[in-house]
Amino acid sequence: MAFQYAYMFNELIQKLKQYDTVGVFSHIRPDGDCIGAQVATCLWLQENDIRAFAFNDDDVPLNLKWLADYYPIRQPDEKSLQKCDAFVLLDGNSPKRFGSYSDYIQDDPKPTYMVDHHPDPYDGFDFSISVEEASSTCELIFHLFLQNDISQLNEDAAKALYTGILTDTGSLQYDSVTPETMSIASELLRIGGFRPNEVAERVFSNKSLNQLHLLSKAMGTIELYEDNQIAVMYVTKEMLEETNTTNDDCEGFVGYPLSVTGIKAAILFKALGDGVKMSLRSKSNDVNVNKWARKIGGGGHKKASGAWHPGPLEETIKEVVEIGAEQLVSVDKS
Ligand code: 5GP
Ligand code: MN
Repeated sequence: MAFQYAYMFNELIQKLKQYDTVGVFSHIRPDGDCIGAQVATCLWLQENDIRAFAFNDDDVPLNLKWLADYYPIRQPDEKSLQKCDAFVLLDGNSPKRFGSYSDYIQDDPKPTYMVDHHPDPYDGFDFSISVEEASSTCELIFHLFLQNDISQLNEDAAKALYTGILTDTGSLQYDSVTPETMSIASELLRIGGFRPNEVAERVFSNKSLNQLHLLSKAMGTIELYEDNQIAVMYVTKEMLEETNTTNDDCEGFVGYPLSVTGIKAAILFKALGDGVKMSLRSKSNDVNVNKWARKIGGGGHKKASGAWHPGPLEETIKEVVEIGAEQLVSVDKS
């Protein structure tokens, strides 16, 4: 399988093999891609006799907890961070995406390597593999195994990597999916000896009734703005309380407003107490939600981004839609 970034992985492999202990971080508010990449990277390190710690400040979402059975993911603490000779940061383009890592590293600089596929990567790491065109960080991490010894890719690592490819591509539907993505997904199935439905069911088909009740309330909030070009959905703290659900239960909700025919972009606003967190999605090459989110202090990809606003909800929606409208206008003019 040809891969134009093979030499970068060879370099990363040589660097990692110098160490006894490596700390591997996935980004805060973790998703399938960062957790899948983290578990697979830790398993790779272990196979190569390097001690690995998998760190995240936040809890692993419920539908991904099974991946933490393949490799334990823990909150970073001073003692375990000190044991690490180097760090690998996965699926985030800047130190601040990795929570307490960014504070820790300021007092105790240690070699740090990044593997990621977000635009605008921070350039201060000791070595970075940043491939914006890659569907997922998991697609990239496959090459850690391929360039070293593919026989080290066991069933657990294959399922972990397949999970990230599946979740970061909207079940292999986004335009980030290339023939290369499909070849890698297929290799993972073959090597791991599993069928796609096994992972898909664990990740997507294990919703609680409470979560569906929350979805039903959220569906009722969908409204269209700017000549039906932007669809907005929201979830409030009260809605979570009424349905006995948590933030994790909102996973995947933004796909519903995005599925409205004719719209260019969708936003899910979550007013859950501490300001308003939002997920922005685009299904038009004209609308770059990364640029949009950056205007509000967030970021992400062209077609999937996130940001935070101090609130309150109504003003946030108004302000964010107005910022998006400017982008729609500038597209119309160009
Ligand atoms: P989600 O909407 O699923 O939380 O995030 C979509 C994408 O946007 C993710 O790939 C993530 O990298 C990015 N993202 C989400 N929230 C933030 C944020 O607050 N800041 C930045 N820079 N990126 C974010
Ligand atoms: Mn990703």
